Amino acid sequence: MSQEIHSFQAETQQLLNLMIHSLYSNKEIFLRELISNASDALDKVRFEEITKTTLLTSKLEAGIRLSVKADERKLIIEDTGIGMTRDELIANLGTIASSGTKKFLEKLSESDKKDAQLIGQFGVGFYSAFMVAEKITVETRPASGGDAWLWESQGNGTYALNSSTREERGTRIELLIKEDEKEFLEEWRLKGIVRKYSDYVTYPVLWKDKEDKEERLNKSTPVWARQKKDNTPEDYKELYKQLSNDWQEPLMWEHIHAEGLMPFQAVAFVPSAVPFDLYQRDSHGLHLYVRRVSITDKCKELIPEYLRFVSGVVETDELPLNVSREILQQNNKLPAIRKQIVKKILSSLQNLAKNETEKYNSFYAQFGAVLKEGFHFDHDNHEALAELARFRSTKTGPDGWVSLKEYWERKADAQKEIYFLSGPSFEAVSASPHLESLTSRGIEVLFLTDPIDEWFVMDYPKFGEAALKSVAKGQLDLDGVGTEPRKSENEEQASPEQLAPLLEVFRRKCSDALKDVKISNRLVDSPCCLVADEHGLSAHMERLMKATNKEFAGNKRILEVNPSHPIILSLVKKAQNNSADTALEEWVEVLYDTALLAEGSPVRNPGVFAKKLTKMLEMQKV
Ligand code: ADP
Repeated sequence: MSQEIHSFQAETQQLLNLMIHSLYSNKEIFLRELISNASDALDKVRFEEITKTTLLTSKLEAGIRLSVKADERKLIIEDTGIGMTRDELIANLGTIASSGTKKFLEKLSESDKKDAQLIGQFGVGFYSAFMVAEKITVETRPASGGDAWLWESQGNGTYALNSSTREERGTRIELLIKEDEKEFLEEWRLKGIVRKYSDYVTYPVLWKDKEDKEERLNKSTPVWARQKKDNTPEDYKELYKQLSNDWQEPLMWEHIHAEGLMPFQAVAFVPSAVPFDLYQRDSHGLHLYVRRVSITDKCKELIPEYLRFVSGVVETDELPLNVSREILQQNNKLPAIRKQIVKKILSSLQNLAKNETEKYNSFYAQFGAVLKEGFHFDHDNHEALAELARFRSTKTGPDGWVSLKEYWERKADAQKEIYFLSGPSFEAVSASPHLESLTSRGIEVLFLTDPIDEWFVMDYPKFGEAALKSVAKGQLDLDGVGTEPRKSENEEQASPEQLAPLLEVFRRKCSDALKDVKISNRLVDSPCCLVADEHGLSAHMERLMKATNKEFAGNKRILEVNPSHPIILSLVKKAQNNSADTALEEWVEVLYDTALLAEGSPVRNPGVFAKKLTKMLEMQKV
């Protein structure tokens, strides 16, 4: 058959150019990438062997073989894996399919700089071999028994396809090493790279010398199956890199050897920075092996969604090898494994929080919002999660954190509830009028500013004996709590009888938006604020609901007025004289709108509000 010439997909060529011309100093990773591909190919064929009987068998022991023909400048990596059909060759080595690589290219065009770091961040796989090779030849025969093919490219826009006479199943990759990269033909150099990066590989990585004698380079047991004491931190870090595609080191890991009814081995990692796919819900899971056979690299049943930042590997002999993905979902053994892994991770996070507070806080700043989903989905671990939760508050400032336990330990005298205020951001809630009376009594208020917090307080209404209480809802009973409150500037206070006519004006003018108007005990400096019913939705929750459902009408709320505020006092007098006064009515409407603004809600009619406000300002002398 005659030779066919194909062009690379545009992005592939873009990536290749980057590789070839990159100043990336860590070129040796190409070998890790090729070995990792070979290991995947061996995984796949091992999995197929369980279910299909018509596969080509291999004469050789399953493994990855390295050899060198130094005088021809050739490095050869050969596997007995699944191989590729012609279509697969074109799809896999002519285009970029892996989402990691696409992400890599997007990142590059965003920052528009050839940041060498990024190449390592996303395992860019096969193409990295062009950093050291001037020509690559891939000879492959699919295990299904189809024809063998030869793929050849110099990385300059095109590749050639030829039929091949290869009989063995699997793939042989031959690199013609560049003149100035000849170190990658040196035996000691290559062996060193394999030991450094590929010790985790579950198949033998074999060095074939000139006499075809084979020497195994990697350890025969994978990291997770070894005793903890036989692993170095580097072993774990390297495993993490393979599993996660993260170029940064993990924050921590847990190595579990479980015995008893459901024996398994696992290594679970917590990353130090948010992975790019954290919010893509179906991308999480742990790599599951059964008796050294890779079953799936994203087994969701092994880790709950609220710990979706955790990556890792689990191996067990307790499942049948031919377990399908559907069966995995119904399998009752996986939840038992998951339970233990979750327990281990939560307890080591607790230790981190105790012993390395700063490290924990930086973890929490990134993953706290995700972790809090656990309050909804994992009732059994509520207490562990409550120990891990952190909040900003009236006392922490924008950068500090407080736990529920610390909050309770430093509560004010006679305080019986844990006070919180929810809202869109630290800035928005910290300026809220709802806090005035509490802060003036020295009572700490937690700020709940993650969208998930609204669910958190519903799922976790009590910490020990202390109920979580919104300061923007229902009645606040602060008598005798905390220190003597700071009074407003004005010593004078209107009595309920004096206030009655003014409250009537509020009710008349705002009846379509308000449920009621009441005298407040939570205000010091502001004339009024809006509060929800004890069991109503908070303003923040209403905004979240409205954002997803335009039809959502919301609940009417209660306006509270401050009986000692100077504006209220002068309006009280006005209302006693003539409650139908139009100036008075305008004041009432403007006050209501400012209460909306103060809680971060939009005013009813911004144009009308601005006009009224301007008119009032005009009456003041500047
Ligand atoms: P990735 O490994 O991230 O998918 P690569 O560019 O390294 O990206 O490889 C692309 C694809 O080519 C692989 O997903 C795999 O399907 C195929 N491939 C690469 N090397 C081999 C191999 N040795 N045997 C079989 N298939 C391979």
